[in-house]
Amino acid sequence: MFAWNRNNHFLRIMSGYGKGKKIAGTLSCVMLVLGFLSLYARSRNDIVVDQPGTVRTTPVSIVNLDDSLNYQARPNVPTRTTWNAPIMWELMFDANLYDRTHKEANTSVAMTVFAVGRYLDAYLHKFLYSAENHFMLGLPVTYYVFTDLPEQVILNFTLGPQRNLKVVRVDRHSRWQDISMMRMKTISEIIENELQNRFSYVFCFDVDQEFKARFGSEALGDSVAMVHAHYYRLPKESFTYDRNPKSKAYMDQGDYYYHAAIFGGTCENVKALADFCYLNIMEDKLNNVEALWHDESHLNKYFWLHKPSKLLSPEYCWDLIIHDESDILIKRLVWAPKEYEKVRT
Ligand code: UDP
Ligand code: MN
Repeated sequence: MFAWNRNNHFLRIMSGYGKGKKIAGTLSCVMLVLGFLSLYARSRNDIVVDQPGTVRTTPVSIVNLDDSLNYQARPNVPTRTTWNAPIMWELMFDANLYDRTHKEANTSVAMTVFAVGRYLDAYLHKFLYSAENHFMLGLPVTYYVFTDLPEQVILNFTLGPQRNLKVVRVDRHSRWQDISMMRMKTISEIIENELQNRFSYVFCFDVDQEFKARFGSEALGDSVAMVHAHYYRLPKESFTYDRNPKSKAYMDQGDYYYHAAIFGGTCENVKALADFCYLNIMEDKLNNVEALWHDESHLNKYFWLHKPSKLLSPEYCWDLIIHDESDILIKRLVWAPKEYEKVRT
């Protein structure tokens, strides 16, 4: 979001002039059709086109768990959405109750994180080390690290019991915007090929952040969105949704401004989100447009059409640059300082 250069890139994929452009256009259409077909063919669960406001169901025991939340615990901040999804703040939940119930339910969590190019050296080690100290402690967790440099993923610490690391090689796109956006395709594929039926939940993270305190099982839910720290107190008119009607991410209204650095849910729901974003990103490419904030714009559109069942307050993803911390009782995870000149391609 605060990348100065995230604003003005309109992709000219396969753009050309005259004849070349026509061929490129035809090729692009074929690619899009193939993309759609492959997604439909790979998936037993077709891409679900829900109506706005629908929330998918969760196992009964876990739904009851959210009934234990104390919505009065934080009078100065909203703790519930208009569609009755909890917004998780410190003091609202009983951490032991959540942990105990999830252990009894044999909950397991897959976490995806991408460290492509210089992001590997700059952020991955600290991210994983801090996750080992704070992320879903007591539950089985498998980290899926996607990188173009698998041999360079070397940990100088041992993972805790029931915690695993899998390193998966991915291509390095030349533009950082594509590295960020194409995560959606990879996430969809890994869920389809490996995660579904093996993990209760999958959580997807940016790598340029560090856990500082408990980020525990209270954050798990059917479909989980992160409220962006910079916008949670601002009026809706200032939300930076994509306002270009030519983009599939276009929105003229919304509920919250969500941060794409963290999202999660059941495998089925995260796959639906990733498919939605990926297909819309590809359609935008065919139309020579790129959404204002790339994958984040598409994610905001998805969560507008498919309401998340749980929201995480900015305590779960805080930017230390923000001076007013009066609502923030605990910083569970913080943004790493942005070093775009150094790390971006
Ligand atoms: N990323 C990466 N290599 C890149 C660009 C992006 O690995 O060259 C991944 C990384 O996980 C990063 C995420 O994509 O955290 C999103 O990019 P970035 O954090 O730069 O976006 P911002 O949070 O600044 O909007
Ligand atoms: Mn980031």
